[in-house]
Amino acid sequence: MEIAFHGAAQTVTGSQHLLTINGRRILLDCGLYQGARAEALRRNRDFAFDPRRLDAVLLSHAHIDHSGNLPNLVQDGFRGPIYATPATRDLCEYMLRDSARIQESDVAFYNKKAAQRGEPANAEALYTEADAAAALALFQTRPLDRPFEVAPGVTAVFREAGHILGSAMVVLDIEEAGRRFRFAFSGDIGRMGLPILRDPVFLSDVDHVIMESTYGTKTHRPPAEAAAELRTLVQATVARGGKIIVPAFAVGRSQEIVYELHKMIRERLIPPIPVFVDSPLAVNASQVFKEHAELFDEETQALLRHNGDAFGFSSLTYTRSVEESKAINDQHGPLVIISASGMCETGRILHHLRNNIGDPRNTVLIVSWQAPHTLGRRLADREPEVKIFGEWYKLRAQVATINGLSGHAGRDLLIRWAAALKPRVKNVFLVHGEPESSAALAEALRAEGLPQVHTPALHAAVEI
Ligand SMILES: [Zn+2]
Repeated sequence: MEIAFHGAAQTVTGSQHLLTINGRRILLDCGLYQGARAEALRRNRDFAFDPRRLDAVLLSHAHIDHSGNLPNLVQDGFRGPIYATPATRDLCEYMLRDSARIQESDVAFYNKKAAQRGEPANAEALYTEADAAAALALFQTRPLDRPFEVAPGVTAVFREAGHILGSAMVVLDIEEAGRRFRFAFSGDIGRMGLPILRDPVFLSDVDHVIMESTYGTKTHRPPAEAAAELRTLVQATVARGGKIIVPAFAVGRSQEIVYELHKMIRERLIPPIPVFVDSPLAVNASQVFKEHAELFDEETQALLRHNGDAFGFSSLTYTRSVEESKAINDQHGPLVIISASGMCETGRILHHLRNNIGDPRNTVLIVSWQAPHTLGRRLADREPEVKIFGEWYKLRAQVATINGLSGHAGRDLLIRWAAALKPRVKNVFLVHGEPESSAALAEALRAEGLPQVHTPALHAAVEI
């Protein structure tokens, strides 16, 4: 088997790993690379392989940095099956279409601004909604824990990753040239005790692993502490009469924050302030969550039995239309606005940030990892002035980061997860981390006694 690391190598976005087994080509994830505009466009447009010669795609989960370049793959001629869990497929139904619409409207806005500056207005969207629909038509769903054949000599099974709804690790049983071995791709590893989701599984009987390393240097505080932090922060902002603006990926953090706010209001820990989930995608994703209650953990199942709805309460408004979204601007604080995108690169969050970061009463709440060069990272780094839609805005609002809400395993859990592999594993390839993060985790895993830990460069290929 050959593994080629064509994305999320020495970086976090654009997950894409190509396996060649028995002459068949299987792609693990097809994520969108996110970063500086020109670089992102180039890396997403130009595949390092011929999509027409791919046999299948195995998709770990619906996040755009894992699924978001599928429409482009199909546009470039891929026609094989895209295997995913049912919840991942249902989330992708909304996420890929949404991604296409955002790209189309961003390009339109970018071209309009360029034309106003007298510059050429000929930028093109990476892909369209029609491309997203074509990709969705290729999905084939496979539930967790049920093995299925991907190619001759290759049997796959999805295992619970505990990262977002439907998220899976991919385990392959491979027979090649008379040799049998087991390979696993961790996808994004979730956390123990996250709200809503079940815990990630630990794999022990695997020979070779591709493993994520997002938080190779950082151990998160427990989810309960993060909830306490969130409460303190909401209370302080409410006392100032301010607004809390939360850039969140539409899937995952949005539902968790709603779940936590709901819990706090029910327990009278905070007043019932208005909460807006301002993202049509988050609204649709919340619906998908409701339809996949079979994936929830015990606590959420219990809440459902008592309350009927873990993602709705009287002061919560889900907004779909642009008019509803704009109307939030006229509301005075205190209130909470949860909106996409999570790294503030696109979407409605940009309008809310533009309108609110100049007021020191307000709080921008960062709840997930922010890629370098994104607006989210600039806000998290408290740059005094930031550019939004090509204009400069002074950052006077408070900026708070709560890492404990992350859906990614922290350093301690990554080490525990890898240590469970020790009895059998021969190679661990660390991906999906900034270079210092992957390097730090590699060092820790070697100290744990794991044999071969590698941090492959982009487009590196290895034979195993
Ligand atoms: Zn993810």
